[in-house]
Amino acid sequence: MKKKVLTMVLCSVCAVAMLASCGSSSSTASTATASGSSASGKKYVIATDTQFPPFEFTNSDQKFVGIDVDILAAIAKDQGFDYELNSLGFDAALVAVQSGQADGVIAGMSITDERKQKFDFSDAYYDAEVTMAVAKGSDIKTFDDLKGKKVAIKTGTNGGDYAKSVKDKYGFEVVEFKDSPTMYQDVITGNTQACFEDYPVMAYNIKNGAQMVIPDGCTAAGSSYGFAVQKGQNAELLSMFNKGLADIKSNGAFDKIVDSYTK
Ligand code: GLN
Repeated sequence: MKKKVLTMVLCSVCAVAMLASCGSSSSTASTATASGSSASGKKYVIATDTQFPPFEFTNSDQKFVGIDVDILAAIAKDQGFDYELNSLGFDAALVAVQSGQADGVIAGMSITDERKQKFDFSDAYYDAEVTMAVAKGSDIKTFDDLKGKKVAIKTGTNGGDYAKSVKDKYGFEVVEFKDSPTMYQDVITGNTQACFEDYPVMAYNIKNGAQMVIPDGCTAAGSSYGFAVQKGQNAELLSMFNKGLADIKSNGAFDKIVDSYTK
């Protein structure tokens, strides 16, 4: 019994160390297995986020594009299935799948143990950490500087969950937003003093003009993105996704898509 408790303590120490490492940030494509192809006559409904570039967003030509949008198209073509993509918002996309209104979700969705209770996930296709970001010119440089401040988070995200898990430790209050652009705007105008967002998404927005900065070494809570279906449902769709993902990884299409948005 004693041993078990010690192990648990050690494990949580490791987990905290992993989560709160204020070190380098990375976002790399990950690998998958399996291959093959199949066809289905059904038209699947897939839900996604609204503005979450470079994964899904409306570009300056008013076209809905992004890594998720393009890999789904490539996978569907490879596997011969038909689908309709509905841009609902992150939280709403998860609810749509859980209520059976959508067959699957692709939305830069992190694979977490908690979500595995309700969803079946595909193989991971992208790795991302969560980062704190602040308005340009802000004095906030570390999590310790968040004491007494208001921090913006996006409803239902693992970045939001991470912020909630450390808010008492660092003494800040959280304010929830439904989408990423509204969350950034609140930070830029100074109503909230920081936000927590997936690193590659925050970096992409900053590169494209968001008046924010990512202080050095403030990443946390690494995760991998996966496509998801409701637990126990749509096994065929999930298996086609995995097979198609493996195919587009081995034929180079996957890397080409990622590079077209990130290089
Ligand atoms: N990766 C994060 C999550 O799954 C955020 C996803 C998003 O905002 N679209 O919670």
